[in-house]
Amino acid sequence: MISVEKALEILEANVPEPKRVEIRLEDALGMILFSDLVSPESAPRFTNSAMDGYAVRWSDCCGIASNGPKILQVHGESQAGVPFFGTVQPGEAIRISTGAMLPEGADSVVKVEDTEEAPSGVKILATPIHGQNVRVEGEEFKAGAFLFAKGTRVGPRELAMFAAVGVKTIPVYRSPRVSLLITGTELAEPDSELIKPYQIRDSNTIMLSSATNDSGAHLNKICHVEDDLAQTIQVMEELLTETDILLCSGGVSVGRHDHVKDAAEAVGFSELFWKIRQKPGKPLYVGRRQDTLLFGLPGNPVSAFMCFYHYVRPVLARLQGSSNEYRSMTARVGFQVKNHGNRTNFIRVKVAKEPNELACIKEIAQQGSHMLSSITTADGYIILEPGALLEPGELVEVALF
Ligand code: AMP
Ligand code: MG
Repeated sequence: MISVEKALEILEANVPEPKRVEIRLEDALGMILFSDLVSPESAPRFTNSAMDGYAVRWSDCCGIASNGPKILQVHGESQAGVPFFGTVQPGEAIRISTGAMLPEGADSVVKVEDTEEAPSGVKILATPIHGQNVRVEGEEFKAGAFLFAKGTRVGPRELAMFAAVGVKTIPVYRSPRVSLLITGTELAEPDSELIKPYQIRDSNTIMLSSATNDSGAHLNKICHVEDDLAQTIQVMEELLTETDILLCSGGVSVGRHDHVKDAAEAVGFSELFWKIRQKPGKPLYVGRRQDTLLFGLPGNPVSAFMCFYHYVRPVLARLQGSSNEYRSMTARVGFQVKNHGNRTNFIRVKVAKEPNELACIKEIAQQGSHMLSSITTADGYIILEPGALLEPGELVEVALF
């Protein structure tokens, strides 16, 4: 048996190189940039008006404060999407709307509120500042400007920027492709009506598939097998096409009907480790075949979940270019707890938080690895080494689900 730290270290050293993929914006939400990105275009792309009003030549209106309002002839209109292609001559103005292209000859925009309709044109009531209400081409940034650094997670704001400057596809870390192999002759479909007294409902399939989706990975295929070595080998081999990570559930302990490890080795995996000095989740097996990792998760649902959470999830995050693997918080222990055993304990806890107070954790009484309530009532877990004792009031780090 190896320690939790050693297991994480071995995994870290064996995470395959993340792959790059060019992806359309519609498919990129939540993905992480594989490289720095620069803008192919300037912003704004063309000089345009910041206001609804009149495009004018500043030299025509600069004396209004001393000489009084000035009447300009309105010679046409520049609308957003319908430019005015002529040139604004001295004594002329062009009606203009927000976002419309500034016509040749004009250098400033007088907003509607500073004008009055006049029979022969428009009366300009206030002297504009030169260049007023004009958004100049490239004033935000020029073509070739740096936009985002490698490692940026793509969210709605980044997507808007790409759309605005004409980036159509972006280089991101490819989502790891995960397949599931669920073992157990005793399993029945959760919605099955014909559940026999000796059967149990399969809760790991939906748990592991949703945990996979939740981690941003791509769920590829799911297969179920009975506890049969030949069948396990055959289905495992089939699942390995287009799979980066194979998650197996159950059949990885020392029972006579546990075949995952033998099947894995029969299809060419080499063991990275088997059995970790931890509770729950001791039987975890990890094998590697070239760039594919196989996790043999224990069948007990809590063990499977904790192993997924502590070992699989960080690997999926790394493959997607992310390094923030665990969310955690510091909290006060509200009870005395000792690890009397010789394995690292992942103790599931509930976090209570009063306003302006440090969060306090409560232990969950039933910690059995077959008891799903130990994770459904928990907000996270603390890690307690063999022999460690925590007294009420002590501070501890809680890994949050
Ligand atoms: P195993 O790791 O295959 O020895 O299974 C350990 C325990 O987990 C047994 O009680 C199994 O019945 C149970 N178990 C295995 N697979 C599942 C599953 N997919 N859903 C719920 N319980 C399971
Ligand atoms: Mg089993």
